Amino acid sequence: MSTPIPASGDPSGSMAAHGSRLDPHLARYAARTHGMTASEIRALFSVASRPEVVSLAGGMPNIAALPMDVVAATVAEMLSKRGHVALQYGSGQGDPILREQICEIVGLQGVHPHPDDVVVTVGSQMALDLVTRIFCDPGDVILAEAPSYVGALGVFRAYQVDVEHVAMDEHGLMPEALREALAMLAKQGRAPKFLYTIPSFHNPAGVSQPAERRAEILQICQNAGVLVIEDDPYGLLGFDGQIPQAMRAQDADGVIYLGSFSKTFAAGIRVGWAVAPHGVREKLTLAAEAAVLCPPAYSQLTISTYLSTQPWMDQVKAFREVYRERRDATLESLEQHMPEGTSWTKPDGGFYVWLTLPPGMDATAMLPRAITARVAYVPGTAFYMNGEGRRSIRLSYCFPEPDRIREGVRRLAGVLEEELELIATFGTAIGAPGTHGAGAPETTAPGPEVM
Ligand code: PMP
Repeated sequence: MSTPIPASGDPSGSMAAHGSRLDPHLARYAARTHGMTASEIRALFSVASRPEVVSLAGGMPNIAALPMDVVAATVAEMLSKRGHVALQYGSGQGDPILREQICEIVGLQGVHPHPDDVVVTVGSQMALDLVTRIFCDPGDVILAEAPSYVGALGVFRAYQVDVEHVAMDEHGLMPEALREALAMLAKQGRAPKFLYTIPSFHNPAGVSQPAERRAEILQICQNAGVLVIEDDPYGLLGFDGQIPQAMRAQDADGVIYLGSFSKTFAAGIRVGWAVAPHGVREKLTLAAEAAVLCPPAYSQLTISTYLSTQPWMDQVKAFREVYRERRDATLESLEQHMPEGTSWTKPDGGFYVWLTLPPGMDATAMLPRAITARVAYVPGTAFYMNGEGRRSIRLSYCFPEPDRIREGVRRLAGVLEEELELIATFGTAIGAPGTHGAGAPETTAPGPEVM
């Protein structure tokens, strides 16, 4: 692990003009691909997937908690009753029955759209892509939390959008920081195309906006004429069973709400949705048709059959328990093992804890040493567009068994102790065996299992 991993392609550099032996098409790529680079940590994660490594990096839902016999019976029933529809092209906007069911689900969060306002997508990731595609030209600016969801940053990068990060505290996005960001952009003569926010059980920060804060943020955005993109894949996964009211419940015209079945049913089914004001819905549908013709009918009808034949809310409750147990194991072992000066968020739902390391530490440079110590995490830099986040770490507790989580946190604490000793002795841990050094490239796309 001591050899630095080389940064991938350099389309803007000298090779771009001529191609390279590895990729003779290098000179042909569109400018929008310049930000599309595989992350340096991607290669490390191929090592992290070895069984001896406890991976607290992956954001994969805990599918083991889903009864496969029930899924198999649902698919069989779906095929026998609606097979001819499931295996055919469908509507670009999505199956009408599923859109009605989605309206019932979002009703739990105070959102009461007409099924016409719903666009079904290939996971909410595609909804993020479509929203950015219809609103943003290259060079446009959007606002997003600091830190923000790595998959959304990948989309923004792909559309050459500038991201202005807005600070968070333990209650999520800070209204004051939002006001400041808006004032700063106004001074530059720039208007953000939208605010992208994850108000409930944030990825990666593990925090949630209380109701009053949601209202204040909405008010600020309404006053400034800023559209809000509310990304909410974890809203039903609160550990106390309370379901937060969506921002969209307060403002049907100014908020586009994104949801997903990835965390409440199965990520592999790849079904998500957007609830959008009428005109936006039309543009989203046209953009979706251009991208995929229609979302997969097979997946949509499977989830639709599951929702109408199974006690799906009981399964959501089972998922909540699975994740609550793992959150508890994470927080208990952090409390037990972490060196002084380390702090972390206390999530009430979702998959993630955000760690802030003691001063002088560098989570990106430390990752190879952590993997050598058989524990993996995602360094904070992956969640910023501007290179910040070096002193931060995202830990995902969604996938490993609680005992593995405890062991992983114990190993991580050992790595931190060693780093602190290096810092105490040499003034810095950079330059110690196995580091990338201070000039390590920024992380970009770490791969789907990690997001
Ligand atoms: N938004 C957030 C905040 C996420 O964490 C994820 C998945 N990790 C997604 C969107 C995308 O989810 P999917 O495409 O599976 O619905």
